[in-house]
Amino acid sequence: MNQTVEELITFFSTPQNIVITMHRDPDADALGSSLGWASYLIQKGHAVTVISPTDYTANLAWLPGIEQVLIYERAGDQRICKTKIEEASLICCLDFSVLSRLKDLGKVVQDAKADKMMIDHHLEPEHFAKWMIWDTYAAATAQLVYSLIREMEPGAAVTDVINKSMAECLYAGIMTDTGSFRHANVTPEVHLAVADLMLTGFDASRVHRLIYDNAPLSRLQFLGYVLSQKLIVIPEFRTAYMVLTEAELIRYNSSPGETEGIVNYGLQVENVVMSALFIERKGEIKISFRSVGGFSVRDLASSHFSGGGHKNASGGRSEQSIKETVDRFLSVLPSYREALLSVD
Ligand code: 5GP
Ligand code: MN
Repeated sequence: MNQTVEELITFFSTPQNIVITMHRDPDADALGSSLGWASYLIQKGHAVTVISPTDYTANLAWLPGIEQVLIYERAGDQRICKTKIEEASLICCLDFSVLSRLKDLGKVVQDAKADKMMIDHHLEPEHFAKWMIWDTYAAATAQLVYSLIREMEPGAAVTDVINKSMAECLYAGIMTDTGSFRHANVTPEVHLAVADLMLTGFDASRVHRLIYDNAPLSRLQFLGYVLSQKLIVIPEFRTAYMVLTEAELIRYNSSPGETEGIVNYGLQVENVVMSALFIERKGEIKISFRSVGGFSVRDLASSHFSGGGHKNASGGRSEQSIKETVDRFLSVLPSYREALLSVD
């Protein structure tokens, strides 16, 4: 057993006041790993508060335990979030590795006197945590939570330490971060973890349906519009991109959850190895990048769009206008041409 795990076992052997937080605009991995970890700690007798910097999307509202999540950005929750952070003996930081991913909550966590623990799989972490369960080889933070629980409970049967609800939360994170077990981050360890989680008896197919086959009709109609009118392919750079303005989002009454995953469609076009989605919302431009094989969108996102993430899935932001942002993207493409063309 490694030293961090030994220290954690000792730390958690007495009741603690724990805050768990995750990155802004939390996805199924951020929320699923946080809720799974929260359940485990509550089961062990700790007082746990789960805080998300911003609200979550409707397709995650079924996650077991989500009703306990406080939203820092929500006026009614902010004071209690601050109190819980002040009282905490430990702040667990899940599914992010830089405090800027917490938006306004970042400064509060940074200034908090509590020790921090990071559980994460993103590249290039900041060093703000006393304990780091950090592994970029892991497909999902939920996979790291699963392994940590198993390591902290040597000899226990999975059903003694992980119940069906926890397994659903962790499975949701692993399933979504691997694109339903199709991305390059799928390893034998991923399938072994999922096999073990399935011994709890949860319904994996239902989790898939609740996340992916649970969209309002308007999302599919919006997707139809985007794919037929907005998907642009640049064959010479093997790149696809889509630009969605605020006016279009309003016209289609599209909520943040409804644009999630749309970037992946660009990769379905033959010969395309990078897809980008530019979204204008409340005056801010949010960009999603996806790639396949050896081409790193993380380098592009961090060099040009104040972002980061993983090699094949990254995000960034821009404070320029949407046109200026897209023009900047198009102007840097030639410098990536060789790398784009050399993908197998
Ligand atoms: P998405 O496109 O789904 O929002 O994000 C894809 C990946 O990029 C996720 O792993 C996410 O954590 C990361 N990511 C998204 N936006 C940002 C950002 O603004 N900064 C950094 N460092 N990473 C981001
Ligand atoms: Mn993740």
